[in-house]
Amino acid sequence: MESNIPEIYGCYVFNDKIMRNKLPKDVYKALRKTIQNETHLQLDIANSVAVAMKEWAIENGATHYTHWFQPMTNVTAEKHDSFVCPTGDGQVIMDFSGKELVKGEPDASSFPSGGLRATFEARGYTAWDPTSPAFIKDKTLYIPTAFCSYSGEALDKKTPLLRSMETLNRAAVKLLHVLGNKDVKHISITIGAEQEYFLVDKDVYQNRKDLKYTGRTLFGAPAPKGQEMEDHYFGNLKPRIAAYMHDLDMELWKLGIPSKTKHNEAAPAQHELAPVFETANVAVDHNQLTMEIMKKLADKHNMVCLLHEKPFEGINGSGKHDNWSLTTDTGENLFDPGKTPAENTQFLVFLVAVIKAVDDYADLLRISVASAGNDHRLGGHEAPPAIVSIYLGDDLYRILRSIQKDREINQQDEVEMDIAKVLPHFLQDTTDRNRTSPFAFTGNKFEFRMLGSSASVADPNVYLNTAMAETLNQFRERLENVPEEEMETEIRKLIQETMANHRRVIFNGNGYTDEWVEEAAKRGLFNLVSTPDALEQFISEKNKKLLLEHKIFTEQELYSRYEIMLENYMKTINLEANTMIEMIQKDFLPAVVAYTKELAETASLKKSVVPDVTLVSEESLIKKLSEAQTNLYNGIEKLKADNLAAKQIANHLEAAKYYQSVVLKDMEDIRIFADEAEALMPEAKLPYPTYGELLFSI
Ligand code: ADP
Ligand code: MG
Repeated sequence: MESNIPEIYGCYVFNDKIMRNKLPKDVYKALRKTIQNETHLQLDIANSVAVAMKEWAIENGATHYTHWFQPMTNVTAEKHDSFVCPTGDGQVIMDFSGKELVKGEPDASSFPSGGLRATFEARGYTAWDPTSPAFIKDKTLYIPTAFCSYSGEALDKKTPLLRSMETLNRAAVKLLHVLGNKDVKHISITIGAEQEYFLVDKDVYQNRKDLKYTGRTLFGAPAPKGQEMEDHYFGNLKPRIAAYMHDLDMELWKLGIPSKTKHNEAAPAQHELAPVFETANVAVDHNQLTMEIMKKLADKHNMVCLLHEKPFEGINGSGKHDNWSLTTDTGENLFDPGKTPAENTQFLVFLVAVIKAVDDYADLLRISVASAGNDHRLGGHEAPPAIVSIYLGDDLYRILRSIQKDREINQQDEVEMDIAKVLPHFLQDTTDRNRTSPFAFTGNKFEFRMLGSSASVADPNVYLNTAMAETLNQFRERLENVPEEEMETEIRKLIQETMANHRRVIFNGNGYTDEWVEEAAKRGLFNLVSTPDALEQFISEKNKKLLLEHKIFTEQELYSRYEIMLENYMKTINLEANTMIEMIQKDFLPAVVAYTKELAETASLKKSVVPDVTLVSEESLIKKLSEAQTNLYNGIEKLKADNLAAKQIANHLEAAKYYQSVVLKDMEDIRIFADEAEALMPEAKLPYPTYGELLFSI
């Protein structure tokens, strides 16, 4: 079976081919229209689709269906209902109605709601997203849905994403019409989400409480070997990894997830998977599924897949590159520079729109990737800094600069020539990647590289889409009443002004240097180093205005998200602190004491045999370990007190800042003592496996 990939591909997806086969022609047509965002689905159509879906699902072994949704937790949620329906005579039929397809009513009270729950009923509802295909997994029919409170407030990641896609669609289409591109009826936002991950041996993992409880190691002296030899990136795949990756591809392909590229990443035990891009909401759903299947399959292969942003200190953490572009229903990629100057006008307008959008809402983009886990990565010289800037490459930058400087229209020809001269070269040069940039133009798309590996791809795209929609609307308002003969001139002025006002966000140099941090400060760019710093900006007037005006969030939804993110941050640090306290008190200190005792006994035994024996190593080790013991003991006492103090702070932003500046700092101090002591102890005496075992046992 495995040899015929085209046959296997999407075999568990209720895809277009199956729909066409299973549905009456008029029903199929109506559903297609809904999928293309053109019409609302009527109940009789939904009934007809439900019957076909159920038949197909049962044929493929399904007994249950579930409304699958994405609450504010980064993982998905599902509640399974069987198709079974008693007929009253001890028999059952397998039943599934249009109503059940379109709407579900799960209890919303146990999902993060950031206060919405208190004011609204606990009941929530899930609504079918017909633009993301249903699929079968584990004998259940999965229906992708949005998740709202009973009064309609979004409680999930999908709802704002769909709203942002729609606002950007409308804005882009209207502007394209003003620019003379009148055939376009719809634009799609395309996303390719490259996913990094670690694989560690399950038996080794089982003995690390920190990995089990928090997803990252809170201790661990560096292994003799790290990533300094640069021998892992693109290195050949070990058989166990290769077998895992093969199984993973097969599972993903069956679910219609276009997994394309796989390779070893920079750090030992680190890998990457890149899919072919898809429409934003489908790509987001597929990335959620990919993460889930990565974990499930790792377990089968006696490994554990770590999706935390920074599982190990001293080597690279994991991110997720969000490749983002816009495509028209006429098949045009709006970020494709094209070959002729006529096409360039449109390209350049959309390009400078991105520059303005990212500059105006750099803080929102930073917020969209903010989490306790990702804080360890950003600015750590392994991922972009916390400063949002755009990399355009020298050639493209030169084109925009030459337009900016050319304020006089009579020099237009020269500029056009300049564009013509530079463009072919530029096209060749797009492989030149500046990996240090958080937001890079890569030929015909942008690549946003700040996102953490465990996060949903939805968030950055919500803000990116909305900021872009706002900018395109502003451009359209400016251009829509310009007479045709003046349009070129006005567009040129628009590009010039946008460059003059927003050029500061463009940076083509090395983003990992301290010089850039200084330079960015001079330019007035945000450098929101930690999650609490970033979240403070979330509810600024500027950001509120954007998100409310574009109806991405109601004010209540906005504040609920702010609350959820703060709570999530605090809970994460608190959990890490508790785990550290437990590991030091219950495991590490007893191990240090036991080994010190052994050394002391050895020393006194030696002395009883050879009274003038030298005991330099015992004495020195005992001294160092005793010091470490004292420091660890004191450190833990301080951590306990500070962790408790953090809980007493009523204001959540203040509390989050306290966790960040005090509790996290305590943990860093403790780690230094523990790792120093670990290095002095024999492997057999350690209560948990070393970095060496974790990183090199596969
Ligand atoms: P890398 O960044 O690893 O060098 P590429 O830039 O070739 O690799 O591709 C990375 C990702 O970009 C892939 O997931 C690919 O599908 C995606 N991608 C390519 N074109 C587009 C596009 N037009 N819109 C969104 N994503 C795209
Ligand atoms: Mg990439």
